[in-house]
Amino acid sequence: MHELALMGDILNLVEKDAKQRGFDSVTGITLLVGILSNAMPDALGMAFDMYKAQRMTMLTEDAALEMLIEEARASCPHCQTTYTPTHRIAICPDCSLPGGQLTTGQSFQVKSYEGS
Ligand SMILES: [Zn+2]
Repeated sequence: MHELALMGDILNLVEKDAKQRGFDSVTGITLLVGILSNAMPDALGMAFDMYKAQRMTMLTEDAALEMLIEEARASCPHCQTTYTPTHRIAICPDCSLPGGQLTTGQSFQVKSYEGS
């Protein structure tokens, strides 16, 4: 489950920033997760709960993880159609050619967090 490592990275990032701001604890994190990113929201949620239970992070006992799911869009370089791809390798529904450039859907980032 690589979401455990991903969540570890996120917590490191957030805690580093939180310390610089003089926060003692982190009460919530909001992530933007693209539907075509390699992260599974369910697994991220489990990883978050695990880190929280370990009590070795700045997360408070009732810290919440919110995930905003980003839909996928692709644009065809041949006929300029934009469409919703179901896979990373996008085939254009209009001209049936591959090579669609994903414009959204691969994000994986911390949107915001809360602390005190
Ligand atoms: Zn096309």
